[in-house]
Amino acid sequence: MEAAALVQKAFIREGIALRLNATITQVERSAGGKLVYYEAQGKEETLAVDEILAGAGRAPNIEGLNLETAGVQYDRRKGVLVNDCLQTSNPHIYGAGDVCLAWKFTHAADFPPGL
Ligand SMILES: Cc1cc2nc3c(=O)[nH]c(=O)nc-3n(C[C@H](O)[C@H](O)[C@H](O)COP(=O)(O)OP(=O)(O)OC[C@H]3O[C@@H](n4cnc5c(N)ncnc54)[C@H](O)[C@@H]3O)c2cc1C
Repeated sequence: MEAAALVQKAFIREGIALRLNATITQVERSAGGKLVYYEAQGKEETLAVDEILAGAGRAPNIEGLNLETAGVQYDRRKGVLVNDCLQTSNPHIYGAGDVCLAWKFTHAADFPPGL
């Protein structure tokens, strides 16, 4: 929450207008760019923008690794399943980093929590 407040302050200082607690209801192309329709505090608003960026989260990239053949269990959302020592269900294979950790940060990948 404190970090969000700092980022918010910096955005405002740089002239970035924020629309918080808003629900986007529709998006469409216009002659000069794109239009975002949204509802905020019970009011319908429209915003003209150049581009739309969507931050939709991240998912482990495990497709094509053929983990079944290696006897490595995984979950499509959690990624490769490991124990506290990062050992997978195949005791000869260990996991590391985002593909198996709940905390998907560089420092967690370098030094996993629990080790
Ligand atoms: C936009 C963005 C911003 C971020 N900002 C921060 C931040 O500010 N601070 C922070 O701590 N963390 C941040 N992160 C998270 C951080 O990047 C990751 O937690 C970290 O890179 C994880 O390291 P990793 O080695 O597990 O995976 P990665 O760094 O993703 O490395 C995995 C490597 O494996 C390769 N690879 C994938 N599949 C295969 C395959 N089949 N065969 C061979 N190679 C393969 C990939 O090409 C990649 O090089 C950010 C991530 C993103 C996407």
